[in-house]
Amino acid sequence: MDSIKAEFNGDETTAMSRIPVTILGATGVVGQRFVRRLIDHPLFEIGHLAASDRSTGKAYEEACAWRLDGEPYAGLNRHVLRAAHPSEAMAPVVFSALDSGPAKEIEPLFAAAGSFVFSNASAFRMAKDVPLLVPEANADHLALVETQRRVRGWKGAIVCNPNCTATVLVMGLAPLQQAFGIERVFMTSMQAISGAGYPGVPSLDILGNVIPFIRSEEDKVEEETPKMLGRFKEGMVEDAPFAVSAMCHRVPVIEGHSEAVSVALKGSPSPDRVADVFRAWRGDPRVAALPSAPPAPIRVHTAEDRPQVRLDVEKDGGMSVHVGRVRTCRLLGIKFALLGHNTERGAAGASVLNAELAHALGYLA
Ligand code: NAP
Repeated sequence: MDSIKAEFNGDETTAMSRIPVTILGATGVVGQRFVRRLIDHPLFEIGHLAASDRSTGKAYEEACAWRLDGEPYAGLNRHVLRAAHPSEAMAPVVFSALDSGPAKEIEPLFAAAGSFVFSNASAFRMAKDVPLLVPEANADHLALVETQRRVRGWKGAIVCNPNCTATVLVMGLAPLQQAFGIERVFMTSMQAISGAGYPGVPSLDILGNVIPFIRSEEDKVEEETPKMLGRFKEGMVEDAPFAVSAMCHRVPVIEGHSEAVSVALKGSPSPDRVADVFRAWRGDPRVAALPSAPPAPIRVHTAEDRPQVRLDVEKDGGMSVHVGRVRTCRLLGIKFALLGHNTERGAAGASVLNAELAHALGYLA
């Protein structure tokens, strides 16, 4: 995280004035990544860790099996877990790594009490007044927060990051939507087992195997993608007018979702032209200076056998998305390979980037 700190030059916030945050679901796969990302963040400072009744009152090292490299528990071994309720764990900024069921009950309590909640859960993603953000692609959707506060009467707000597979897909589609316009998308995913939380899929089911079913995943990708690539207009988001068809598979990979994408683009551009657009794309200019933003949102590979999970997914702290094999598709016009980190760009890193954007745009004042 030191490198993140050193690279950050867009704000005068110092360690003295960092914003206290609560991490909900701090013991889980995504929660641990939040802890590791936020332990030494230039804008945010960990105040409370919270999880389920099973963990409340226990020291972090007793309640949680730490599964990341680096310092175990990020040094918070004896930090006592709180109940996931504003009366116990209030903070101006809340990062939620809760499952969807508890998130539906708990996140609104914090938003009503005045917290800005940055959520990984699916509970509110498709609500018309909730921003579903990939900052490089749709930073302007953050303004939905004003509609949300008007409609719900909250002092705080809920801002969601998308499903991890949809996040990676939107990073690959946003440059093409902006440069050409999209007519149709067909995507087949090969998704890591960490996407199912811990302990996730039993090893006897996944080793040496491919499972062509992940509950609700295809619906999430097909519904969330047009919302994210939609237009913000008069306080609402108008979905992008193209259909997405997704086929999702679980594969024996630990971190990293790979996607094979075919897309019909307006004007039928050549593969070389499409690769140039990927290479030049930097996304919303307000994002590049944020502490968690990668040097470029997309890394374009030219080797015929890249991107690969083992070689590429951890680059840039898992925050860049990888594109390779841009070529002609006999059905839709263009096809390419995509790869992204499901628990960083698709989860913890995404929420932290959303919060940094909200801070940069003055929402956390
Ligand atoms: P996980 O490993 O199963 O962790 C779930 C966390 O929620 C644990 O800290 C658990 O605490 C806590 N929790 C469970 N029930 C609770 C309750 N009733 N009240 C308070 N806390 C409760 O799950 P995960 O993979 O980290 O996923 C977390 C969220 O992120 C999910 O909504 C998931 O869909 C989303 N997401 C995950 C990924 C990914 O790649 N894994 C990507 C994008 C989004 P205890 O330890 O005390 O039970």
